[in-house]
Formats: sequence, structure tokens, C-alpha cells
Amino acid sequence: MCPLFSPPLFMQRYQFVVDFVQKHEPKKVLDLGCAECSLLRKLKFHGNGVELLVGLDKDSSVMRTRMHSFAPLSSDYLQPRSGPLTIELYQGSVTQPDPSTHCFDLVTCIELIEHLHLEEVERFTEVLFGFMAPSNVIVSTPNADYNPLLPGLVGFRHHDHKFEWSRKEFQLWALRLCDLFGYIVSFTGVGSPADSHTNVGFCSQIAVFNRDPSRQDSALQCRSREEPTVYRLLYSVVYPSLSDNNILQRTLVNEVLCRAELIKRSWLSGEWVAKTAPEPFMQGSSVCVSLLDVWACPRVRSLCGTLRRFTEALMGELRVELTPARQAIIMPADEEEEEEVEEDEDAEAAGTKWTATTATEDWDAEMPHNSNSNLPDFHDA
Ligand code: SAH
Repeated sequence: MCPLFSPPLFMQRYQFVVDFVQKHEPKKVLDLGCAECSLLRKLKFHGNGVELLVGLDKDSSVMRTRMHSFAPLSSDYLQPRSGPLTIELYQGSVTQPDPSTHCFDLVTCIELIEHLHLEEVERFTEVLFGFMAPSNVIVSTPNADYNPLLPGLVGFRHHDHKFEWSRKEFQLWALRLCDLFGYIVSFTGVGSPADSHTNVGFCSQIAVFNRDPSRQDSALQCRSREEPTVYRLLYSVVYPSLSDNNILQRTLVNEVLCRAELIKRSWLSGEWVAKTAPEPFMQGSSVCVSLLDVWACPRVRSLCGTLRRFTEALMGELRVELTPARQAIIMPADEEEEEEVEEDEDAEAAGTKWTATTATEDWDAEMPHNSNSNLPDFHDA
């Protein structure tokens, strides 16, 4: 089916969440009804500052389809993130409370509630706003007022929808729960109608809830995160990050060796220009590169902050050989390197060399996998 919106509606919904996350910088985000985890993937990529991303869906088979794409790439180790990030995926129902879901800064429910029976919506509302009680909630659902504008639509937009609410019905539900559980809500949406139909609202209606600070219940104070007792953990990954001292040390040493190598090469080729740092010098067949010259590299400085921490980080590091006065790094002789390069080339020619892939994010790549994209309905109108 040709999408009625550009970008397609599901992308606009994800983008709405991404914009919210970039603006409000929540640290812990839970996506309910995450399906193939497409939104979580966006948030992993664009959600700077998010430290915990959790997905929950009752259908484990749909989650399994792409969950292994969360495995860290070699590039994640070569260029670790500055802050920590853990991703966890659970199988379970949003109508059941689980202690691991307390204290999230943001919970998203994108095109989920219309898949629940009305009596389940009641339970879900209590679980979400009464039990999980996150600081912010984003709920999106089809706007039935818009349906007459969808060409050829008979009944609901998707065969699994149990209901589709008008704006009034959605707002009644939202305002009642705000009153009950102490939230403030604002209404918006994505998928604007043509100018001649501005009275029908957005194709996907969205409610953004914030916990009302004037009604903070002291019983809801956040404790440390509890283990799940009801939901089943399907997948969990902790990304390498510079907040882990081992990773920071490894990244720093990689950066130092790379920088020293560049300095060595420019000096050997006669391109080295005299700087404030001492000039490299030969020791046997090795080139010794001044630590001060390496320290001048902005990335090295940003990784370790002070010159003292920088030198301390190199002491006792097996991959870094220092001169006795600890003022220069001894770089290996060129012959050995050439041998290494040759070995690498041989391996490459034999097709055995492994090449790191880079982490890229591509909206289009999501499309064939999106839970909604292969359905002949109006989910993605
Ligand atoms: N949020 C996703 C998928 C929406 S489709 C997106 O925007 O692309 C609705 C999803 O909700 C499905 O994956 C379905 O399995 C899940 N779902 C339906 N009822 C559920 C329940 N009771 N608990 C958890 N997930 C549920």
C-alpha cells in the first residue's frame, strides 16, 4: 500500500519519541508493546544520555526477529560511548505488574492500547500509572475521527485492533486517569490532515503525561531497581562505555598508540614540523615519540583530563613501552611493521581478514521489518 504520509506515519511516531527523549533526556526508558524493537533501535542511536532501554512485548517471537542486532559491534569497542547503556528485552503482558518496571523516567506505548480488550485497558491503566508510575508517559493510538479520510477503509485500521477511539474518547480516558493517579496530560499527534480537513485532528493521536509534582505520593519514591519476577528476560546487553575504567584505559591506550604512530611516520618522512614538544629520536632501530607530543592530541586530552592521569594511565600498560625517563614512547621498528602489513595483506587476499562494520542508522532499513509494514491495513496510513 502506498503510504499516505511522508515520512510514513510509524516513522513520525518514532520521531516524536526521539524528539521528546532528546529534549527531556530521560535516563531510563521502557517501551511497552515494542514488537521488533524498532523504536528502541532509534533510541539507542539518537537517545544520548539514555542509560537503560527496556522493551516489553507479550509476543516473544516478534521480539526475537531482530533482537540480536543489539549485540555490540567492534566499532562500539573501538569508539565506546561516553555514558553507560544497558538494553533489556522482556516477554510479558502490560496488564501484569512486575517490580522491574518501577522508576522509569519515560514509558512509551506506541500503538499498543488499541490491541487490548477494554477490560485489559482498565488493568493496564492501573499497572502503568498506579504501579509503574513513571515520570513521563507517551501513548499513541489511532484517531477514529480521522478514519473517514483513509481511502477504502472498512472497520478498524488493523485486524487486531479491539477498538479505535475518537479524540473525545481518548481524552476522557486520559483525563480520568490523570485525576486518579496524579498526572498532567497534553494532547497532540502526528499525521496532519490536508488543509480542507483540519477539523478531524491527527491521524495518530498522542497523549503526553507528566507526573504531577504537587501530588507526589511518598510511597512512590524510587528504590534501586528490582529483579523481574513476572516478566521473562529474553535478551540483555551492556555496551562498552568510557564510564567503565577498563574500557577507558583500553581506548586511551589505542588512541595513544595511534597518535604516536602518526607522529613517528611524519617524523620519518621528514614532514614533522618543530613544535613546542621535543622531537622524536632514534633508540636502536626504534623511534621514541615524546609523550608531550601525544598529549597535545585533543582526543587524548579529553579521555584523561590531566597530564598526570595520562602518564599514570600508561604506566604498567603492557602495550606501551616507555623510555627509562618515562618521557617518550618507544615505537616498534619499521621492518616488523612491514612484515605485519604484509601478513595482513596476505590474509586479506585469502579472504580471511575480518573487517569491522560501522554502526549506521537507516530509517529505510526498518521498513521491511516493521511490524506494521507488511500488513494491508492503515497502521502506517
Ligand atoms: N509499538 C510498536 C508495535 C505496535 S503493534 C510499533 O509502534 O511499531 C502492538 C504490539 O503490542 C504488538 O507487538 C503486540 O504483540 C503487543 N501487545 C499486544 N498486547 C500486549 C500485551 N497485553 N502486553 C504486551 N504487549 C502486547
